Amino acid sequence: MTDVDVIVVGAGGGGLTAALAAHDAGAGVVVLEKAEHAGGNTALSTGSVPGAGTRFQAAAGIDDSASRLATDLLAQSGSHDADDLARLLATGSAALVEWLIDTHGVDLRLITDYKHVGHSVPRLHAPPSRKGRDLVADLLRAVRATDTEVLVHTPVAALLHDDEGRVTGVRVSGPRSGTYDITSHAVVLAGNGFAANRDLLREWAPAIAGFEYFGSHSSTGESLQWALDLGARLGNPTAYQGYAAVAYPHGSITSWTTVEMGGVLVNGAGQRFGDESRGYSGYADAVLGTPGPWHVVFDTTIRDYVAGHEQEFAELVALGGARECATVADLATFCGVSRSALTTTLASAASAASGDTKDTWGRTDWGFGPLHPPYVAVRSVPGLFHTQGGLLVDAHARPTTDTGPIPGLYAVGGVATGISGHTGGAGYSSGNGLLSALGLGHLAGTHAGSLAR
Ligand SMILES: Cc1cc2nc3c(=O)[nH]c(=O)nc-3n(C[C@H](O)[C@H](O)[C@H](O)COP(=O)(O)OP(=O)(O)OC[C@H]3O[C@@H](n4cnc5c(N)ncnc54)[C@H](O)[C@@H]3O)c2cc1C
Repeated sequence: MTDVDVIVVGAGGGGLTAALAAHDAGAGVVVLEKAEHAGGNTALSTGSVPGAGTRFQAAAGIDDSASRLATDLLAQSGSHDADDLARLLATGSAALVEWLIDTHGVDLRLITDYKHVGHSVPRLHAPPSRKGRDLVADLLRAVRATDTEVLVHTPVAALLHDDEGRVTGVRVSGPRSGTYDITSHAVVLAGNGFAANRDLLREWAPAIAGFEYFGSHSSTGESLQWALDLGARLGNPTAYQGYAAVAYPHGSITSWTTVEMGGVLVNGAGQRFGDESRGYSGYADAVLGTPGPWHVVFDTTIRDYVAGHEQEFAELVALGGARECATVADLATFCGVSRSALTTTLASAASAASGDTKDTWGRTDWGFGPLHPPYVAVRSVPGLFHTQGGLLVDAHARPTTDTGPIPGLYAVGGVATGISGHTGGAGYSSGNGLLSALGLGHLAGTHAGSLAR
């Protein structure tokens, strides 16, 4: 006899999705959240989830399939420790998006106004606001509608297990919750990765310890350590999602659409320093490797286009985070760089964008084409958004040891091995974070929930 069928540790996108799936499979579920509210990194994201072959794509005339998504993901990431997981998540992606919308009323809409990094067709589905907090609000409402309890201020401090290594529950311990044990048939670890834990970063992924972290402070990696103690294994430990252009000092993202539509990044010498079309994650280490201050430079056509489609960027503009500059001289003054260097940089980029010359850095995709004054600049810094290293899992999201899955244990989202390459930030395709969180949550919840029957 257990206290509950399924315990979910963490109320972000992965945990809430796992709770819904476990409930749908017939289980009684409780979600334990250490912070004062649900959301984690999911609430900070743009809430964009890939679904390949959805009916929304079909209605928009977009021809897509799971195999096309898997091919895209693996082309971006290269081969890594979890290639099969990428294929598995691609296979379930359309059903995941449609299940969330149809069964649980989560408001996700296909984004058709631009493609995302790593995707050959439009396939990301996001809340109308493109804000992860709206995705969390919908998931939370759906979870509560199933009469599942979500307990906040309830940190899980340890796993309970028997002598054979079967996980039998968790120990809660915190200043508000007190200390007590809950037993269950299954525990789903959904506490995200270890980007907020400097010690683990230095130990597992020292190359990224130098980035400033812009995600939730609750990503402290304790749940990975509990599973490793039971024999689980880490995959892709040094992979990560970075962001090349976090608006400074605002802290919100400078939408990468500004770059995809033709914008460039310039360093403290007023120069470009690489091919920006490597993507917002893949380009983050290039930014870190060149002296600042760094600016994203685009023009008012791009500003107005992106602000018209992306609320977070519109807010950045409204807050004065994107400075309009009538001339290159004004732009140079704002960026604090040499006017002649910036003039040369923009002339050379314009020439490449018009197709007159080859770009020094090899960029071929220039969106709307050459930039025209008035220019717009956003001061920005590179950042770490989340770690992609995590526990190797099987097709039911169970962490595996050398001898098989750990009975009673599941790992989703940032706790599990990511699908963004073996190392670095360049293998990240847009939506990989939430595909792992929601996709594995769906698989874990469905399997864990079935144990209760
Ligand atoms: C600014 C930003 C933008 C992003 N944009 C996107 C995007 O558009 N698309 C995309 O796919 N990805 C995006 N990502 C990445 C994405 O947000 C994450 O990969 C994803 O949200 C991870 O979901 P999760 O459920 O694993 O973790 P989280 O959403 O972080 O949830 C984990 C929860 O577990 C709780 N927790 C942790 N430890 C414990 C414990 N011991 N006991 C109890 N509770 C615990 C935490 O407090 C937290 O609430 C972005 C990330 C950032 C920072």
